[in-house]
Amino acid sequence: MDRRTLLISAAGLTVTSAAKADTTARIRDLAARIQPNVVAWRRDIHEHPELSNREERTAALVAAELRRLGLDVREKVGKTGVVGVLKGAKPGPAVALRADMDALPVLEKTGLSFASKATDTLEGQPVSISHACGHDAHTAMLLGAANVLSAMKADIRGSVVFIFQPAEEGPPAGETGGAKLMVDEGALDNPSVKAIFGLHAWPLPAGTITYRAQGFMAASDRIEIKLKGRQTHGAQPWNGIDMTALAADIVGAVNQITARQVDVTKEPTVASITLMQGGVRFNIIPEEFRLAGTLRTFSEDRRQDMQQRIRHAVTNLAESYGAQAEVEYTLLAPLTYNDPKLATAILPALERATGGADKVDSTAQAFTTAEDFSQFQKKVPGVFAFLGMADPGKSTIAPNHSPYFDVYEPAMEVGVRAHAETALLLLKTVT
Ligand SMILES: [Zn+2]
Ligand SMILES: [Zn+2]
Repeated sequence: MDRRTLLISAAGLTVTSAAKADTTARIRDLAARIQPNVVAWRRDIHEHPELSNREERTAALVAAELRRLGLDVREKVGKTGVVGVLKGAKPGPAVALRADMDALPVLEKTGLSFASKATDTLEGQPVSISHACGHDAHTAMLLGAANVLSAMKADIRGSVVFIFQPAEEGPPAGETGGAKLMVDEGALDNPSVKAIFGLHAWPLPAGTITYRAQGFMAASDRIEIKLKGRQTHGAQPWNGIDMTALAADIVGAVNQITARQVDVTKEPTVASITLMQGGVRFNIIPEEFRLAGTLRTFSEDRRQDMQQRIRHAVTNLAESYGAQAEVEYTLLAPLTYNDPKLATAILPALERATGGADKVDSTAQAFTTAEDFSQFQKKVPGVFAFLGMADPGKSTIAPNHSPYFDVYEPAMEVGVRAHAETALLLLKTVT
């Protein structure tokens, strides 16, 4: 059996009858045929989730399927990342489609028959793991798209690069990883990728697509604040420095910056202090205090301005208490910036994939969550979009990262079509 026969028989795809119909009808047909496999992959990956940089089993499953399809496969790109290249029969440029593979340290409470029972160790602590962000569905949908486009290979001008990325949620402390490492290790080279597209499961109406040109998801910085003062008895605060009061004042001051000092009607800006650590006993005012939080911005100017304002507020407050302060920022993900030209160009593909103009919102609000897909967009123009995966039969929908998060599986067929349609349109758009 040659590779082509194997592909067709193993995936249950017939090219002959569909070849007569137009491209969209073919994609619909092929996506419908591969849907049972997509559901099976999703459930298998869901039941066997792996933390960031530990996606060994998932990567092996992905690599085996891409090899079965006859793609050129590179493994261990950025730790456990997998890159598969589908060369079309006709010459042309290369475009990429991306999915992420990692799960989260979240104890699943969905009650699904294939719910995760997996555990691992994270920073020395035992944790339960689950796919609470839908990356299981992302991986399954991209495998589905690889099947659809492989079956259409004879008509494809150029190459489609399938990128399966580890550690989107962030590598464990002390490790590198994620989109940046994949880019550094050549995921977008050989062939040289000209444009990239990615989808994220989101609790929006099932089968809809939501995105916007320019800043779509925020740049994310971690804020770390270290305070040092003088320890004293809780009954005699005047003999030391009241670090608890200082920490509380800092939280108030940081909140006040976004409420009063920057114009949030021009662009969304969020600074949240989410962690306060200090003290061991009710009657001791501690010497040290640690605060941490997150800064979300939509332009480099605002990012720099906010960093300066927070630093200024913290150091001046500390000084007024007689304490010392250190403020550090770590950029976790740059701005997810959707290239305006591509964002407009792919709209017809997304309308064909979803089945209607009313199912695609291309002028959505900006979202203050972040995505390291932005690291690919720093290298090549790209578009990132949300795929609505809320179960229409449920009255309350759990958000991403909730122990109750789930995806509505029939919407994965729309995701497969969106990947395939967009890849083909991008191949015609880029030069
Ligand atoms: Zn997430
Ligand atoms: Zn995610």
